Amino acid sequence: MRGSGARRVSCFMTHGYRTRRLAVDYSIPLMTDVKCTKLLVEAMRLIGHAPPMKTHTDCIAGRRMTKLPGFIDVHVHLREPGAPHKETFASGTAAALAGGITMVLAMPNTQPAVIDRASLQHAQELAQKGARCDYALFVGASATNCGTVGELAGQAAGLKMYLNETFTTLRLGGIHLWQAHLAAWPRRAPLCVHAERETMGTVLLLAWLTDRAIHVCHVARKEEILMIKAAKERGLRVTCEVCPHHLFLSTADIDRVGGPGWAQVRPVLCSPEDQQALWDNLDVIDVFATDHAPHTREEKESANPPPGFPGLETILPLLLNAVNQGRLTVEQLILKFHRNPKRIFNLPDQPNTYVEVDFDEEWIIPERPAHSKAHWTPFHGMRLKGRVHRVVLRGETAYVDGVVLANPGFGQNVRDWPVRKLLPYSTGTSAVPPAHTTITSPERHLPAHLEPELEMNDEFIRLLIAASPEAKAQATLPTKPTTTPTVHFGAPVTPAMPASASGPPPPPVVSPVPRIRCDSSGTGTAIRAVPAISDLATRHGHELNLIGRHVLTVDMFTKEHLNELFHLAQTMRSRVVKDRPLDDLLRGKVMASIFYEVSTRTSCSFAAAMQRLGGHVVHVDESSSSARKGETLEDSIQVMAGYADVVVLRHPVPGAVARAAHHCRKPLINAGDGVGEHPTQALLDIFTIREELGTVNGITITMVGDLKHGRTVHSLARLLTLYDVSLRYVCPAGLEMPERVREFVDRKGITQRQFPTLESAIADTDVLYMTRIQRERFATDEEYQKCCGQLVLTPQAMTFAKRRMAVLHPLPRVNEISPEIDNDPRSAYFRQAEYGMYVRMALLAMVLGRC
Ligand SMILES: [Zn+2]
Repeated sequence: MRGSGARRVSCFMTHGYRTRRLAVDYSIPLMTDVKCTKLLVEAMRLIGHAPPMKTHTDCIAGRRMTKLPGFIDVHVHLREPGAPHKETFASGTAAALAGGITMVLAMPNTQPAVIDRASLQHAQELAQKGARCDYALFVGASATNCGTVGELAGQAAGLKMYLNETFTTLRLGGIHLWQAHLAAWPRRAPLCVHAERETMGTVLLLAWLTDRAIHVCHVARKEEILMIKAAKERGLRVTCEVCPHHLFLSTADIDRVGGPGWAQVRPVLCSPEDQQALWDNLDVIDVFATDHAPHTREEKESANPPPGFPGLETILPLLLNAVNQGRLTVEQLILKFHRNPKRIFNLPDQPNTYVEVDFDEEWIIPERPAHSKAHWTPFHGMRLKGRVHRVVLRGETAYVDGVVLANPGFGQNVRDWPVRKLLPYSTGTSAVPPAHTTITSPERHLPAHLEPELEMNDEFIRLLIAASPEAKAQATLPTKPTTTPTVHFGAPVTPAMPASASGPPPPPVVSPVPRIRCDSSGTGTAIRAVPAISDLATRHGHELNLIGRHVLTVDMFTKEHLNELFHLAQTMRSRVVKDRPLDDLLRGKVMASIFYEVSTRTSCSFAAAMQRLGGHVVHVDESSSSARKGETLEDSIQVMAGYADVVVLRHPVPGAVARAAHHCRKPLINAGDGVGEHPTQALLDIFTIREELGTVNGITITMVGDLKHGRTVHSLARLLTLYDVSLRYVCPAGLEMPERVREFVDRKGITQRQFPTLESAIADTDVLYMTRIQRERFATDEEYQKCCGQLVLTPQAMTFAKRRMAVLHPLPRVNEISPEIDNDPRSAYFRQAEYGMYVRMALLAMVLGRC
């Protein structure tokens, strides 16, 4: 800790020196002050144990950590809406993170059940507010929704059909309903069944008769796993999951679990012989899933205990223990708890997401795990070797050593992530993708050793293409009969990944989409081969219809536009960072950059964007334009549009760019018109927030400075209304946010508040958006000094701010931000300028029809 100061150690061979040297060499915390040591010992005596180690450094130094991908649990019950005393999205996803799970698929048997658009939307709203890890929500099949539920397929994790009695109101009575749902649910979309014993036999037959793939939940018995094995061998497209309580518990454990009431679960705990059959047929099992079904201790102790076990916090440690025991390999663990869930449910990759586990740590599962509201576990008292240490979700440490750091709302609905529309693979036609070939386009970013899994998602695409009759006609896919087990939703094409394979599958023979590379380092984004970008680009263009459109105001953008744009910008960034060429994307294209008002950054950013994509720039500014000779703006634009493929225009007069657009037959991008709009700045601001904080939803943005004249804050405030945010304003009197902007924000239901000082607003702020106070707007210099003095961001003000905040500034700054803050990791303004280039690259590529 600190030196005693009493005397200096001059001899380097003393015991003291050797001790200190050893402490450094072996990373052992060492106290060298006897008074402090006495205090620490006394403190330890009082609390009764050693202090917990909090820092990552401490923990990493002492242990052998293994990095695994974020695990995906495809079967959880989070009890919201309806029974928040059992579990909520916030508590259940905290339990998930504590268990190394970064994505959950939530079941629909809530109160009310999720069976139609209204109930799904309600559940989505609750999930959006509460979830700490990523998620998707199932919809349930009911007696009445057969004709309508299919419309929700794109938004849902899949369809869940309850065919046996369990804890639900959704049990489907008659076989005619089963048939109807199997036939009606879109064939490309996942469909899960709770089907035991005879019911499973029936539904397998029905699936075969209706020629569709199904996923069987929680297989528990010997006859069931053998039935699935036989079905796979005969080419039925069936996949299955097994839960930890059927793998690690049997009827022999009922007393240990707490007696028959506590051991109630559906399917029930089975015989040791059944349990052994699951282990003997591990290759038939596609997925490990918890069927996390929490009930409180009181409910389980009651006279009529409801069936269900919590499982999120314990599944991974149990499986790690099995790896240590040699019953399971790490490859099987990753396959069945990460890759297969992703393939079967067509889930996107979570960028920069991983779990650090300590395979060596021994521990005993406690009576009351901390995070799920169930506060009990059927596995209590089990001694395990292997523990979750840290979970990183989309670049953020979401959990470390018992502490969940991700807040409610950090989790995202992965079905909202950008969707890639798949075109049939013909060239040179203007075919629009058929709606039913929609699939998600995952961003790929995984540890390097997981690279081969990318082939699986390509394969998924392949299967989907084959599933669509239109595509079948065009895609040159091998269509050999399926004599080997296929395990996927989609048509039987090739032996996709045999369920029995424990390693990565062989690469597809013919891939209709370009190969995609993945990298583990850097910024958490995918690297695509250049043809992939242009290919993706073409699809995006069709879907978003930005091709050839003017970009004049932020009002033209939908949330989907933004998602697509940012997705692409991330890809661009990743390629640039890794020095991978992009210069054939806009090769031969010319951008006219017309600036009637001085701007260095915006014009350079556009020019750099264009040049990085291989295009050329013709630049005109006030001094070189024919405006000096009296040419009208309209004429200049017409002429320049003749020379170029896209025109970027800045003009000092609000509305001038929109006026010019009437005379521009090429896409025109507004690069700022007076105090009017600056749409690309707002786009890059939001991209910056996404990159810096991981999400835009649920955050508080404080805008500081001249809010009256600052066009960037006007555009930004309007664009932010597409997200769930709250806005705060801090500005000198007389420079308030204009009423029209405030009204617009109000109409969208976004909260906005005025704050008197920076200090009063900063504490709960996630994004501090500083802008320049324009001296020229003040009558006297004295007034200016008085105003801007309050609105300077100083290191002192930063001490009131959150540890995870981002400071943005459209630049140039004058004195609003002290230079001492530049080194603060929260200062994002220089990165923000760089992000602007990627956003403009994406936008240019999109309006020019290459994206
Ligand atoms: Zn369940």
